[in-house]
Amino acid sequence: MAQEDVFKKIVSHCKEYGFVFPSSEIYDGLGAVYDYAQNGVELKNNIKQYWWQSMVLLHDNIVGIDSAIFMHPTVWKASGHVDAFNDPLIDNRDSKKRYRADVLIEDAIAKYEEKIAKEIAKAQKKFGDSFDEAQFRATNARVLENQQKRDALHERFAAAMNASDLDELKQIILDEEIVCPISGTRNWTDVRQFNLMFKTEVGSTAEGSSTIYLRPETAQGIFVNYLNVQKTGRMKIPFGIAQIGKAFRNEIVARQFIFRMREFEQMEMQFFVKPGTELEWFEQWKNTRMAWHQALGFGAENYRFHDHEKLAHYANAASDVEFRMPFGFKEVEGIHSRTNFDLSQHAKYSGKKIEYFDPELNERYTPYVIETSIGVDRMFLSVMCHSYQEEALENGETRVVLKLPAALAPTKLAVMPLVKKDGLPEKAREIIDDLKFHFNCKYDEKDSIGKRYRRQDAVGTPFCVTVDHDTLTDGCVTLRDRDTMEQTRVKISDLRSLIEDKVSITSLLKKIK
Ligand code: ATP
Repeated sequence: MAQEDVFKKIVSHCKEYGFVFPSSEIYDGLGAVYDYAQNGVELKNNIKQYWWQSMVLLHDNIVGIDSAIFMHPTVWKASGHVDAFNDPLIDNRDSKKRYRADVLIEDAIAKYEEKIAKEIAKAQKKFGDSFDEAQFRATNARVLENQQKRDALHERFAAAMNASDLDELKQIILDEEIVCPISGTRNWTDVRQFNLMFKTEVGSTAEGSSTIYLRPETAQGIFVNYLNVQKTGRMKIPFGIAQIGKAFRNEIVARQFIFRMREFEQMEMQFFVKPGTELEWFEQWKNTRMAWHQALGFGAENYRFHDHEKLAHYANAASDVEFRMPFGFKEVEGIHSRTNFDLSQHAKYSGKKIEYFDPELNERYTPYVIETSIGVDRMFLSVMCHSYQEEALENGETRVVLKLPAALAPTKLAVMPLVKKDGLPEKAREIIDDLKFHFNCKYDEKDSIGKRYRRQDAVGTPFCVTVDHDTLTDGCVTLRDRDTMEQTRVKISDLRSLIEDKVSITSLLKKIK
């Protein structure tokens, strides 16, 4: 199946099985805004818990906060967002569609990379074990030609982005003969800058209203609380502050479902370090974050780091963790070395001294910052994309199964009476009443057992138990495993110990290497 079709299926699965709904759907939805449904919210909460606990439980020098979305407008002046939080946009005159110029060019770079990857895959298949990739890359004419074109484009693009040269971005689009995917034409407007922050008013006009912004990142809430947390928590450098919360960006192009939203959620951690040690910490946090991703068991080959072409105005190093989505490798997390830019700017604009007194060095300094910033929604999407599988069964049927890591699954155990009578429903309820304090259980009595299993597979429930007539006398149930579909007879009194550990966030945290 083409990857595009797989993605379409995942999107409709999310809706059909109560994971994600378009916002305000009865009014035809609102562009790039989505609601999390009954199963989606559980999965999302589990992702957040996995992140939160990996930060504040596993590190005794990281604490959390929850700052307000509304902040003093000067915060955004100081942070540089009012002046520089822009994306270069370009319109196609024929389709009237708007695009990000940098994304169009990045896609063109990715096309060269795909061509190279295809050649390599083909040769690998042909030569088998004797295939030498390095030699093939160095000698194959088609690979060399595409690599050279890719590198030249990459270099030109990086230079244009670094210089914020909008004319050059347009020229690259023309020279690369990039067409609008809708109209198929090259009838482009000039490239313009577009600020991504949403503005609103606070206070009534009578008392004098003022313009404020919906935060485009949660990080600034951490920076302006740095002194409060450091003092009240008596934190010693190096230390971190973690936060999960909503962020808002007026994205130019809403694409790929929940990948790029206008209202989304971030999990950010700012780690304050001694100046001069930041690049070591940057490397360390890259490794720590990659280990967090890989503990989910989705395969190391599905992740890669991507170093930034253009560093943001505040950074001296930046790298993205990319995950292989059905539409290619895409950023799920950014790791940035933000220098002391933000704290210095807030000191300048607020007139307050924002420093750290280092008792070991007996000196004051403005700490440097390493940031790890991951989108909850993008993480959700990557989990969905990797877990969605269509499996051919021995009897010729296909089952759709979400092979979610058990710790992230919305429901951990479905309890099903074989029939709706003879005291079986009551027994099933009794089992749930006992286990519901330990993990999320669901009762399901409608349709045949086979259909109920399929329904639970489709929402990723790792375990099902069936209560039958024998249960009433032998105190045993049939426990079915989602992935292997194996069924075993187990004692009701053993259910908790058999399941609890496998479905807990703790079990996932212990897998982080
Ligand atoms: P992109 O280049 O895709 O616009 P970014 O580099 O601007 O992303 P950051 O500012 O580094 O993103 O934000 C950190 C994380 O927040 C991203 O890695 C992503 O997971 C998430 N994120 C950013 N913008 C959005 C959005 N519009 N919708 C959903 N998640 C987002």
